[in-house]
Amino acid sequence: MENDTPILYIVVPCFNEQEALPQSHERLSQLLDEMIGQERIACESKLLYVDDGSRDDTWKIVDNLAHESNRVAGVKLACNSGHQNALMAGLAAAVEHCDIAVSIDADLQDDINVIPQMVERYKDGCDIVFGVRRERKSDTWFKRTTAGMFYRMMKRLGVSTIENHADYRLMSRRAVLALLDYKERNLFIRGIVTKLGYKTDCVYYDRSARIAGESKYPLCKMMNFAIDGITSFSVKPVRLVFTVGVLFLVIALIMLIYVLCAYFMGRAVSGWPSLILSIWLVGAFVLIGLGIIGEYVGKIYTEVKNRPRYNVDTTIGLDKE
Ligand code: UDP
Ligand code: MG
Repeated sequence: MENDTPILYIVVPCFNEQEALPQSHERLSQLLDEMIGQERIACESKLLYVDDGSRDDTWKIVDNLAHESNRVAGVKLACNSGHQNALMAGLAAAVEHCDIAVSIDADLQDDINVIPQMVERYKDGCDIVFGVRRERKSDTWFKRTTAGMFYRMMKRLGVSTIENHADYRLMSRRAVLALLDYKERNLFIRGIVTKLGYKTDCVYYDRSARIAGESKYPLCKMMNFAIDGITSFSVKPVRLVFTVGVLFLVIALIMLIYVLCAYFMGRAVSGWPSLILSIWLVGAFVLIGLGIIGEYVGKIYTEVKNRPRYNVDTTIGLDKE
């Protein structure tokens, strides 16, 4: 691309990461210095930590780091807004200062050593470079299986995601700007990014274990995330309700024939078991259908409210240039 030494911002969302952050910072800043030294990226490049309303000392650590070094910047959200929103906040802050932004989790489960490769791909003309995990041995069996099921289901439902790619990716300035144009509240960034249409590429790495601290994605958050991912991008569940409705019509017709036969044979009263069975069945499916439709109505509700995604409390290190 036209820019040989682009300004790189590495955006790191952090939620209660006081244990992991010092080590992660050490490794990230070393990498950044190295890359600047090799003139792969401009010396204005920075690490941007987004504190997603942590209740521990995360912001204190970021604040200290930003005071020590002008290669560190921070954004503090006023309250916990979730990983995806924190990431958007970070990208929105970074895009004003950088040519390219790499997003990565604070626990450094994703191999930071492929960042130079990502930058190379950018220089080759790619706007988005996905970090893709080669294998997930370090994740628990449960996480691996549920994640695998999730990706397969997404594919079936017609949502284009890159398998084994989370939110570790490089984006050019114009890709970030395009992403920020998606104003929806139910965010599933990795589903949007594939829709932007810019030239993309992948780099591969092995995922390692969490550097310190524990996962900030308990099962219920993961489930919510999966449901968001599906209902924000696919209307197939609604069509499923329709299909079930047609199926019920067919069953109802068969029932009608059955009842008529029973009537003419003088055995109408004995139809009671099938009747009571169908009442229950129909009731159940109506409720399931309503549940699915309710999910979409809920989405419409949150979209039309058009609430801000996050609220920035303080920033540091962003206005020094
Ligand atoms: N995170 C966040 N807000 C949240 C939950 C998580 O900013 O409400 C951040 C967290 O600090 C980490 C990243 O999102 O940098 C991914 O979380 P984690 O590593 O705990 O998830 P896992 O790798 O277990 O899926
Ligand atoms: Mg993690």
